[in-house]
Parts: sequence; C-alpha cells; structure tokens
Amino acid sequence: MLKKWVATIDITTLEVEFDPSFKFKCVEGCGACCERLEVPLRDEDIVRIEELGYSAWEFVDYEKLFYRGDKFLGYALKKNPVTEACVFLDPETKKCKIYAHRPLACRLYPFVLVKHGHKMEIYVKEDSFCPGLNHPEGSQVTKEFIMREFGDVIEKYRKEMERAQHNSRS
Ligand code: SF4
Repeated sequence: MLKKWVATIDITTLEVEFDPSFKFKCVEGCGACCERLEVPLRDEDIVRIEELGYSAWEFVDYEKLFYRGDKFLGYALKKNPVTEACVFLDPETKKCKIYAHRPLACRLYPFVLVKHGHKMEIYVKEDSFCPGLNHPEGSQVTKEFIMREFGDVIEKYRKEMERAQHNSRS
C-alpha cells in the first residue's frame, strides 16, 4: 500500500503542520472504497451497529480475520454476495445505510493515523480508485479539517496521555 504524509498534529498543543499541496474531498455517490476494500471491525463498531437493530451475523464476516503481526485485530465487515460491495452500501444510491454509525476504519479512509509520542502523523493511502484525492474542490488537511473529521480520536489519545502522565507522577 502506497501512502504519503499529509499532516502532523501535536496532541497536546493541537499545533498542525500540513502539506499544502494535498487536498481531499469525499465524492458523494462514489462508494468505490465500499466496493473495493475489506473493512476491519472493532468490538465498539459491532456493538454500535447492533444497537441500530442489526444482528452481528448480518454484517460480520467471521471467516475474514485481521492481524497485525500475531495480534488479532478483528473480523471483517461482510460483503453483499451479489454486488461484492459492503452490505451497508445501497446499490442504487451508493450511499451508506449506517453512515452516522459506520466503523472507524470507514470514517478514517483514505487516511491513516500513526501515533509517535505526543504527535499524530496523518498519511493518505494513494489508492488510484479514490477520486477524492487531490480533488479540485477538496480541503487541505488543516487543524480545522483534522478536528472536524477525527477530533474525537485526537481527544481520546489526549485524555490517555494525560492519564498516563498523571499516573507516572503519582
Ligand atoms: S473512494 Fe474516495 S471519494 Fe470515493 S467514497 Fe471512498 S473516500 Fe469517498
């Protein structure tokens, strides 16, 4: 997978450094990533989707497992056997049926967040099928963009760091 650096955010000060030449806009009605990618599910994703009234067997593919090294990360989101796209992609409108509750991996795509100490580096996967990369109407990966798209993830890491610092002092 080719990926390139587009921004770094300092989790404590929220200062951002970004590549001004890169822009992104997810194109409405595209759905290419929902058709082509295998999506890993975290336990939290499964619980959240079940709360919408779905049963896990309807959307979890227990035959596809994700690992990082020898660490089990989770199962995959199921594909529609007819369209081969994600089960939640409406084949007519190409819209996600659970958009507001979609898994974290879907929310992050095409970005990859890598934590290094108190900094979070943000990379973009250079998938040729994604028309949102360097879209002329796209946004740069500024602080506003990062906080709007991934603010909750940054906040979670910030709280974890504060807790770790507090524990090391006490
Ligand atoms: S492939 Fe890119 S533009 Fe298309 S839906 Fe996915 S993120 Fe959006």
